[in-house]
Amino acid sequence: MAPLRHALSRMMRSLVMKFTVLCAIVLLAATVVMTSIGYISNTHDNRETAQAHAQLISQLFAANLAEEFVTRDARRMTLNLNSFVERGDVQGVYIADTLREVVVTAGQVDLLPGDRTGDALVHGALGSVDSRVEVQGDLIRVAHPIMHSGRLSGVVVVDVPTAAVSRAASDILQRQLLVGLVALVIFLPVVALVVRTSLGPIHKLTEAARLASSRKLDLRIDVRTGDELEVLANAFNRMFARLDASMKRIHRLAYVDMVTELPNRERFRKEVERVTRRAEDDGSAGAVLFLDLDRFKRVNDSLGLGEGDRLLEAVARRLRETARGWDLSQGDDGAEPSLVARLGGDEFTVLLPTLRDPADAARVARRIIDAVRRPFEISGHRVFLGVSVGVSVFPRDGGDPETLLRHADLAMAAAKRSGGNAFEFFEATMNQTAFERLVLEGELREAVRDDQLVVYYQPKISIKDGSIAGVEALVRWNHPTAGLLSPGTFIQAAEECGLIGDIGNWVLRHACEEMAGLYKRGLNIPVAVNVSAVQFEDEKFSDTVLDALRETGLPANALELELTESTAMRQPERVLEQIAPLRERGVSFAIDDFGTGHSSLSYLTRMPFDVFKIDQSFVRDMARDEHARIVVETILAMAKALKLQTVAEGVETSEQLAFLRDQGATLAQGYLFARPMPLTDLVRFAEGEAAASARARTA
Ligand code: C2E
Ligand code: MG
Ligand code: MG
Repeated sequence: MAPLRHALSRMMRSLVMKFTVLCAIVLLAATVVMTSIGYISNTHDNRETAQAHAQLISQLFAANLAEEFVTRDARRMTLNLNSFVERGDVQGVYIADTLREVVVTAGQVDLLPGDRTGDALVHGALGSVDSRVEVQGDLIRVAHPIMHSGRLSGVVVVDVPTAAVSRAASDILQRQLLVGLVALVIFLPVVALVVRTSLGPIHKLTEAARLASSRKLDLRIDVRTGDELEVLANAFNRMFARLDASMKRIHRLAYVDMVTELPNRERFRKEVERVTRRAEDDGSAGAVLFLDLDRFKRVNDSLGLGEGDRLLEAVARRLRETARGWDLSQGDDGAEPSLVARLGGDEFTVLLPTLRDPADAARVARRIIDAVRRPFEISGHRVFLGVSVGVSVFPRDGGDPETLLRHADLAMAAAKRSGGNAFEFFEATMNQTAFERLVLEGELREAVRDDQLVVYYQPKISIKDGSIAGVEALVRWNHPTAGLLSPGTFIQAAEECGLIGDIGNWVLRHACEEMAGLYKRGLNIPVAVNVSAVQFEDEKFSDTVLDALRETGLPANALELELTESTAMRQPERVLEQIAPLRERGVSFAIDDFGTGHSSLSYLTRMPFDVFKIDQSFVRDMARDEHARIVVETILAMAKALKLQTVAEGVETSEQLAFLRDQGATLAQGYLFARPMPLTDLVRFAEGEAAASARARTA
C-alpha cells in the first residue's frame, strides 16, 4: 500500500501532472465563463423578445377586439381570448373600459367582470393613450389602449409568462456545459501527452546531473528541441566540460609530480594502502623500494636548477623503463604492473604489487642500480649518478604505507652508508640503530645548548728542534652519563642532523678565545681548527671566521683552518672564493687526512694551501707496508717542491719519527709527544718540563 501511495504522491508532484491539472482548470474556467456570458446574454435577449411578443399580442387583442368591445359582445371576446390562453401564450387577460371597469376576463386573473381595477398599468395606458409594460417576476404585463374610430374606448391587459423564454436559456446552458465537458475529456489526455513529450529532455538533464554527482563528468546531453530546454542542456554540457577539466587538473595537482609526471607521494601512499589491503585478503606478497640518488645534490648545484629538473626527468624515464622491462620479463599479462613514484627531491619509490619470491625485489633493485649508473646526457654534459636502494617486503616488514616507507628508507640509509650504488633489505635491527641515532641527536642538541662541549688541544711538534709549533683544537663531548666522548662518536650524526655548523662555529670561537688568552700571557701558540664541509659551504663562513678573530683579538696568522681533502675538492671554485679573503688577512690553510681522498694532483697544486697533514693511517703502516711508505715519501717530496709545510699525524713511535725526519717532514703530531689535552694541561705542557722532554725526544 505504501509504495502505491508513494508512487501516487510522486506522480501528483510531477510536472506533467501539474501542467495537466492546470490545463484542466483553465479549460473548466473558460467553459464556465463562456457559458455564463452566453446564459446572461441569452436571458437578456429572450426577455426583450418576450416583451415584444407580449406587446404584439396586446396590440393584436386591441385591434381585433375593438369592434366586439364597442358592441359589448362578451361571448366573442371571451372565445377569442380563451384561444390564446389555451395555447399557453398568455397566462391571463382582461379588458376594462375607460372608467377602469372590467368587462371581460380569461385565464388567471384576480378580477371579475364588473370589478373596478386599480391597476397602475391601466391608469398609465389610459392616461398616455399608449401601451405600458411591466415585468413582475416571471410575468410580463402589458396594457394597451383600445381605439375605435379614433377614440379611446378601453384597455386590454395581458399577462405573458416568461417561463418559455428562460427554459430556452437553460437549455442552451446545459448544451454548452456538455460541450465543455466533452472537450475536457477529449483534450486532457492530449494535453498530458504533449506536456509529457515536451518535458522529456528534463529527464535527460536529471539523469545527467545524477551521473555528474557520482563523478562521471565526461558526458554530453543530447537535446534538440530548439527551445529553452536545449539552451539549458547546452549550458549543462558546458558546465560538465568545465567541471571535468577542473577535476582532472585538481587530480593532477594532488596526485602527480609536476617535474617528472610520475605519481607523487600521496598517490603512491594510496596505491600501497590498496595493495597491502588486498595482500592481507589473498595472502600475496609485494615490496616497496625506496631510492635515493647518490651525488645528485652536487650534480644539481653544478648544473643549475632547470638542468637539475631535466636530469630528474631523465632518471624518472629510466626508472619507468626499468619497471616496465621487469613487468614484461615476468610475462604474466593479468598481473598488476609495478608503480614508480617520486616522493620529492632526489627520492623515488617503486611498488612491486606482487612478488613470487623476495629475491625478485633484489633483482629489480639491481636493474635499477645498473640503469641509473649509466651516464646521463644533459645539454651536452655527461653526468654520472648513483642510487642507493632500500627494500621493505610486505607483509613481513609492515602492512601499511607509513611503516613500509619508513623501513625501506632505513634500509636505503644503510645502503647509502655502505658507499652508495647498492641495495639493502630492511632488517629489524635497523629500527634500533635509527632509534639510537634519534636519541643521540636529541642529546647532541642539548649538549650544544647546555655547554657540554669542551675543546682539547694536541701540540704539533717541530721535528727539527722539538719546540711546539702549534696545536690542533679537537672537540670533546662531556656527556652527563657516558663521560668524555671523542668526536668519532658524534661528528657524523652532527653532520647528518645539521648541528655540525653550530658545533664547528662554537669550537672555532672557543679555540680563538682561549688562544688569544694565552697570547696575552705571552704564550704565542698558533691553533689549527677543523672545518667541516657543511660549515665551509655556508656563504657567511669567511665573515664568521673574521668576526671570531676580531672579537677575540687573536692575530689572524695564529689561526690555521683544516679542510679535509674531500671538502677542498668538492667545489674547487667555491673553495678559492671562501679562502681568498681569509688568506689575505693571514689565516693559513691545511689539507687534513691528506692521501685518503682521490684528488687530482693538478687541482691540488693549484689550490692555495700552506700545509699538508699526512693521514695517520700511512704513518701507522709505514713500518710494515711498502705502499704506505711510498705514499708518505711522495707527499713529502711534493710538499718540498711546492714549498709547503707537512704535519705527520699519529706519530706514536721513535722509528716513525726517525723515518719522517729522514724524509724531510717538518712537523709531527701524535701520542709520542702528547695526547690531546685541556687548556690548563696545555699551558703546563708549554711552560714546563713536558716541552723539554719533547725536545729531548726529537734531539
Ligand atoms: P683529525 O683532524 O685528523 O684529528 C686527528 C685525530 O687523530 C684526533 O682524533 C687525535 O686525537 C687523533 N690522534 C692524534 N695523535 C694520535 C696518535 O698518535 N695515535 C692515534 N691513534 N690517534 C691520534 P679525535 O680527536 O678523535 O678526532 C677525530 C676527528 O674528528 C678529527 O680528525 C677531525 O676530523 C674530527 N674533529 C675533531 N674535532 C673537530 C671539530 O671541532 N670540528 C670538526 N669538523 N671535526 C672535528
Ligand atoms: Mg684535523
Ligand atoms: Mg687528520
